[in-house]
Amino acid sequence: MSDYSFFGDVCSYIDRAAVYTDHPQGLIEQIKQCNSVYKFNFPIKLAHGGYRVITAWRVQHSHHRLPVKGGVRYSRHVNEDEVMALASLMSFKCALMDVPFGGAKGGVCINPLEYKASELESVTRRYTSELIKKNFISPALDVPAPDYGTGEREMAWIADTYSTFFPEQINAYGCVTGKPISLHGIRGRTEATGRGVSFGIREAVSVAEDMKAIGLNTGLEGKRIILQGLGNVGYHTAKFLQEEGAIIIGVAEYNGGIYNIDGLDIEELILLKRSSGSIVNYQKGQSIVNARELLEYECDILIPAALENQITEDNAPRVKAKIVAEAANGPVTKGAEAILLEKNIMIIPDLYLNAGGVTVSYFEWLKNLSRVSFGRMDKRYEEVNNRRILHAMEELTGNKLSETQHKLMETGPGEVDIVNSGLEEIMVSAYHDTRELMKAKEIPDLRTASFVSSVEKIALSYIDRGIFP
Ligand code: NAD
Repeated sequence: MSDYSFFGDVCSYIDRAAVYTDHPQGLIEQIKQCNSVYKFNFPIKLAHGGYRVITAWRVQHSHHRLPVKGGVRYSRHVNEDEVMALASLMSFKCALMDVPFGGAKGGVCINPLEYKASELESVTRRYTSELIKKNFISPALDVPAPDYGTGEREMAWIADTYSTFFPEQINAYGCVTGKPISLHGIRGRTEATGRGVSFGIREAVSVAEDMKAIGLNTGLEGKRIILQGLGNVGYHTAKFLQEEGAIIIGVAEYNGGIYNIDGLDIEELILLKRSSGSIVNYQKGQSIVNARELLEYECDILIPAALENQITEDNAPRVKAKIVAEAANGPVTKGAEAILLEKNIMIIPDLYLNAGGVTVSYFEWLKNLSRVSFGRMDKRYEEVNNRRILHAMEELTGNKLSETQHKLMETGPGEVDIVNSGLEEIMVSAYHDTRELMKAKEIPDLRTASFVSSVEKIALSYIDRGIFP
């Protein structure tokens, strides 16, 4: 598998989608290429003395919209091919969801578990200042976000470093998203990707025709789920699906898995992971030493939510799920995809399914540019209005509502309500728009349809500027 190219897979998805468009080959080639690939090395001082040289990347795939947007990944497996592939997926993801950004991605080749917090802070601050030197970060040009191995803490360090360099920039905090609330983050961002994944799966299983075709009933209630990766995306996805009545029967982590046909309690599992760093000692399930085997267990929905390249031509023939829901980026290789589709397994593609993160990042960026929280200006106004309407209706009908009913109907939306409903609207409409495009153009699968939709939108932005005929 050493000659496997994730970026190669993404390019071939674009070629496959291009067949359903009538754009010239030159335009398709431009859409495929990464516009800028910046690789750099920098030293950091280790806590116990000595130095280590760190290799890092920032790739800007497409400048058809600015700023470009994409997470920063900390992993010892990070390499240029991977960062290029992830950057290009971001361009197509944003186009698909009508989020007005180009795509980018960052990568730092370290295993964060091997570093102390103070060392990770040095890495993050130095990474940020290297980006500043080359103009690879700013609210107008390139806005990073969390990804595998990074979270709020790293985004806070990035924001703090950038705003220290540019104290006069009024929009400085818009240089990165996924920040803590105290540093102008937005409520709902941490759980946004997982919430979006759960909305996407809910929409897919709501379509009777599609569920009948793969032998499933509609609805989430009772659906048996196996999850790979109990990190930010995996945990929140499982939490929201469990709340909707789905049953999590297996969870695979990098060092082992847990299986229980009657269901696992996701809150207990995450508490154990947070307190001990692992789920392997969970007592209310069967321990699976080779967690990768869980991908092959019988279930309704398999959710890879860890890393790319997890379902390959090797294990795809043994996958028994009815739906593979790509919460991670690129978990199914192109070769594996052909096998799964041949087996009549539905794939909900990463391009669509995990776009909730960038969607809410977009809301956070808007909040930073406007410097006001969503709902702050009109919450009370809406409450007063709602109260007036309710009183008028009570007078008209002679029926009095209870205090609880009043409270429920009067309360105006706060930031998190607006964020969650905006996210739901975008996830729901993108799913059905893509499915309709798939049907209208007789496209065989949702991934190709997602690429067709986004290639069309990116192509149009070049054509409208007169760059291509
Ligand atoms: P994370 O670091 O929070 O969690 C990853 C989890 O996967 C960890 O619990 C880790 O222990 C586990 N893991 C690692 N290797 C594994 C293996 N071989 N088998 C099983 N588990 C393994 O990362 P995340 O932010 O949840 O990102 C996960 C995936 O989702 C990545 O592909 C990322 O690109 C994608 N994604 C993340 C976001 C976001 O907002 N964080 C947005 C879009 C897409």
